[in-house]
Amino acid sequence: MAQKVSKDYWSKIMRGPPYYGDMLHPILKKNYGKWKYHEHVKPGVVKYVAESGDVLYTVKAAIPKILSVDTVRVLCDIADKYSDGYLKFTSRHAAQFLITDESKIDPLIDELESKGFPVGGTGKSFKPIIHTIGWNHCHTAIYDAPGLAKAISDELFEYWKKPDLPAKLKIALACCLNMCGAIHCSDIAIVGLHRTPPVVDDEIVSKFCEIPSTIAGCPTFALKPKVLGPGKRSIEVDPKKCMGCGNCYSVCPGMKIFNPKYDCLSIWVGGKIPDSKTPPKFSRLIIPYVPNNPPRWPEVTEIVKKIVDLWRKHARPDERIGEWIERIGWERFFKLAGLEFTEKHIDTYLFSVRDFRSSTQFKWE
Ligand code: SF4
Ligand code: SF4
Repeated sequence: MAQKVSKDYWSKIMRGPPYYGDMLHPILKKNYGKWKYHEHVKPGVVKYVAESGDVLYTVKAAIPKILSVDTVRVLCDIADKYSDGYLKFTSRHAAQFLITDESKIDPLIDELESKGFPVGGTGKSFKPIIHTIGWNHCHTAIYDAPGLAKAISDELFEYWKKPDLPAKLKIALACCLNMCGAIHCSDIAIVGLHRTPPVVDDEIVSKFCEIPSTIAGCPTFALKPKVLGPGKRSIEVDPKKCMGCGNCYSVCPGMKIFNPKYDCLSIWVGGKIPDSKTPPKFSRLIIPYVPNNPPRWPEVTEIVKKIVDLWRKHARPDERIGEWIERIGWERFFKLAGLEFTEKHIDTYLFSVRDFRSSTQFKWE
């Protein structure tokens, strides 16, 4: 039977998301913008000290990427018990408990660990992977991003608990070129690629698709109308212009973009969006083709581990992956990692001619 809800409830819902400021911890509200310093107490625990002398601790725990209502309830119960109900989800999807009573930190950690939420991820550690939705919910996904996030996280789990990397490590995954998760500025990024243009199914396109909007949605102008007969239209693809983004397939199921033989994963490194030292950097392609091999993607996890190991061995303290590579040079990084430089590493995207690396400093041994 449908639950009866009050008028006030609906008026609140219709107003959209509530103002976040109403739910801030009182210590955060009082000291907003007036913090003196913070320090990493131990893996997963950070202490914030305000100019007023107020102290707030945060305890960070890894949580499943896809949450059930039951799991949310468990997290909320833990927050009620230890942090006066103050809990937030970070932008990388960890649970963070805000605590003023230092004596509650260890019991909170024990309870989180016993319920399968490992505490860590602060300081120079491996942060939770952000990723797009994959096969769960999206029809253009080349690989299952949540599954790969789990496989890589298992491989790097020790660095979640042990913050002894040269700097923080942020990995992001997108299961197609649309990158709806905006992963392009990550230390390591993995993007799914369609490497062949869509195969047009004239029957489906002519019967089910809105041809003008499908053509208009192609970012590289690779599509044009095709006349099949009186009153019957379809679409023609210029394969030279297609970059395999899958936009046309998103709006028209007759533009069949999947090709299990050629669809693959690509690996990019060196991006970041810092708030200090250097301006933001885009990640750059290092491996254009890695097979899509679920459920554990051994080829991908091996490469990711290798890059992290090289970075740990050669980087100076506080150097993110991109900063380390820029210091030693991309040529040397390719050599260290045993990577091959091919024509695929030269950006020939229609609108990026300016980005050709063509100065006199360009050299590959
Ligand atoms: S990245 Fe692409 S395939 Fe993955 S969820 Fe976003 S739009 Fe879908
Ligand atoms: S896959 Fe993308 S680039 Fe290729 S034809 Fe479709 S919309 Fe255009």
